[in-house]
Amino acid sequence: MTNRHIHGVITELRRVVRRWPPPAVGVVAHETRDPFRVLVSCVLSLRTKDATTTTASARLFALATTQDALGRLSSDTIEQAIYPVAFYRTKARSLRALCAELLTRFHGMVPNEIDALLSLPGVGRKTANLVVTLGFGAPGICVDTHVHRITNRWGYVATRSPDETEQALRRKLPRPYWIELNDLLVPYGQFLCTPTAPFCGRCSISPWCRQAAVTRRR
Ligand code: SF4
Repeated sequence: MTNRHIHGVITELRRVVRRWPPPAVGVVAHETRDPFRVLVSCVLSLRTKDATTTTASARLFALATTQDALGRLSSDTIEQAIYPVAFYRTKARSLRALCAELLTRFHGMVPNEIDALLSLPGVGRKTANLVVTLGFGAPGICVDTHVHRITNRWGYVATRSPDETEQALRRKLPRPYWIELNDLLVPYGQFLCTPTAPFCGRCSISPWCRQAAVTRRR
């Protein structure tokens, strides 16, 4: 797949993913327009199913919606609210530390730059990019396991890690598609271009896909 095809592919993805639930963090961003809640739900979502992230985020935001209020909750209270997200004990500690850092180093504001976000506890490139794109509507490309796998299967990039994929996409993908790519490819990867045996027989973008490294398909 080349940039000659990418416009048609994105248009087709927009049409197809409407039938599936949107990613949990995207829902929080859409409903709240609040970078802090986007940041918190991103932390909760790591290694966690979307449905679990959605309910855990709702329970936690019923207790606190600001860095000040969340920072005053005990680790036990946060753990009980967010269970059963993956690594809930570690994430509860990270969220408390994250709130403290926001208050002391960033005047209680969520920073809108990748490097500043990366300096916060529990924040990696995926979370930083999601906060910048969904929390602030600023340019960024959030590359998670789905974006990395699918863009490599397409043959649009040829990379070995999500970080390399992000850099390759920043060089190649037209900027108007940066923010929405994650929202399109997460559901596509969950329901159609699955990690093992993707449903290539039902995939309407298969004419443009190289199916690189796909050994078993349905
Ligand atoms: S053709 Fe197969 S590998 Fe390519 S995007 Fe579609 S489902 Fe994924």
